[in-house]
Amino acid sequence: MIEIKNLHKSYKMGTNSLHVLKGINFSVAEGELVSIMGSSGSGKSTLLNILGMLDEADEGSYTLDGLPIKNLNEKIAAQYRNKFLGFIFQSFNLISYKNALDNVGLPLYYQGIKHKERVEIAMSYLEKVGLADWAGHLPNELSGGQKQRVAIARALASNPKVLLADEPTGALDTKTSYEVMDLIQGINEEGRTILIVTHEHDIAEMTKRIVNLKDGVIIDDSKVNQVRALSNV
Ligand code: ADP
Ligand code: MG
Repeated sequence: MIEIKNLHKSYKMGTNSLHVLKGINFSVAEGELVSIMGSSGSGKSTLLNILGMLDEADEGSYTLDGLPIKNLNEKIAAQYRNKFLGFIFQSFNLISYKNALDNVGLPLYYQGIKHKERVEIAMSYLEKVGLADWAGHLPNELSGGQKQRVAIARALASNPKVLLADEPTGALDTKTSYEVMDLIQGINEEGRTILIVTHEHDIAEMTKRIVNLKDGVIIDDSKVNQVRALSNV
């Protein structure tokens, strides 16, 4: 599903340049649940943003579901993002003045799906994350865990091939984190490919494979015995 080879990325600030990714190679098969671990500043978000087509590498190749991702114009890139990728962020990134249902329906709106069908699909995903009763509520009327569930429903609404989650439990307490990870494990078990960025080892252990990033390179990439999230609660 994902194949990257010799990926390099530097940030240029004036005359200075910070070399963040120094030759990253890895691939992810369909249906995997992978975490990318590393300390703060190790380049996890940089890597995830490149995988999410929100940023481009300086060097190396990236193939997503067989498609080479290189020099795409913004319109084509947006189409690919919409079709292939769902995003989950630490800070949820919900639209504050839209209720849960409309937040989930947003990617469908951008795909040109008509209102009635949009509501049906969005509602089905809210049900999936256990929030059907909260459809009419605004984000500030929801708990952190509920907000992240809405964000997960939104990420799923366009039926993406890959979910990319950047510190999805970073703003949640431990118990809520495990509940969100339980939901993510369930979504993966339905066959969805998921990549999670985290700096927390106990969260990474709830995935099936841990890729360790340090000083711009992968220092370890191994399968793990996946811990069930709710066995911790
Ligand atoms: P992580 O997600 O692992 O904490 P990041 O990928 O966000 O790490 O950042 C890696 C390094 O790149 C950090 O030193 C960070 O300060 C720097 N960095 C990230 N984004 C930018 C940017 N847009 N411009 C300049 N430096 C950046
Ligand atoms: Mg980060």
